[in-house]
Amino acid sequence: MRLLTLKKSFMNKLRSFYQWLMSYGSAEKMAQRGENVLNTRLKTFFGVCPSCGNSFEEHSFTRIAWTITNGEHSERVREFLEILRSGKWQELLDISDFDPLEDTLVIDLIRCVNGKAIWILTREAASLDDPTQIAEHKVLGFDESKHLLSLLVDSNWIKMGK
Ligand SMILES: [Zn+2]
Repeated sequence: MRLLTLKKSFMNKLRSFYQWLMSYGSAEKMAQRGENVLNTRLKTFFGVCPSCGNSFEEHSFTRIAWTITNGEHSERVREFLEILRSGKWQELLDISDFDPLEDTLVIDLIRCVNGKAIWILTREAASLDDPTQIAEHKVLGFDESKHLLSLLVDSNWIKMGK
């Protein structure tokens, strides 16, 4: 039984790895597809903007930080969440640990038309069989939003649409 579990997990990892490898040749296309998937995921999860209560027209989002969540990195994950929840934005923006074979915790940020920013914490599984889960989100106050957004003026903001 245990052997079967191990085997399944290994096959999932292998599959993820090949998917990552195959995407390497058309990075731009994959990035575009990734952006579309993410945009749909955010809009489906919230329905309306948690800040202004309207549709996501004129809103945009960007990915601001990510870290690996496997056992060896548990101390790193604890730090990551502490940095996020205490609003140490510059420190958070410096974190970008990624491994296509490992589950990842990512922070996306939505920019609302009213000037507020919303962070969204999502667990992205390396295995294709394991669903991605939005774990937590927070609408920041005006001052904190302004500060964080000022650090992200050069980021790749993606328009969300209705
Ligand atoms: Zn809004």
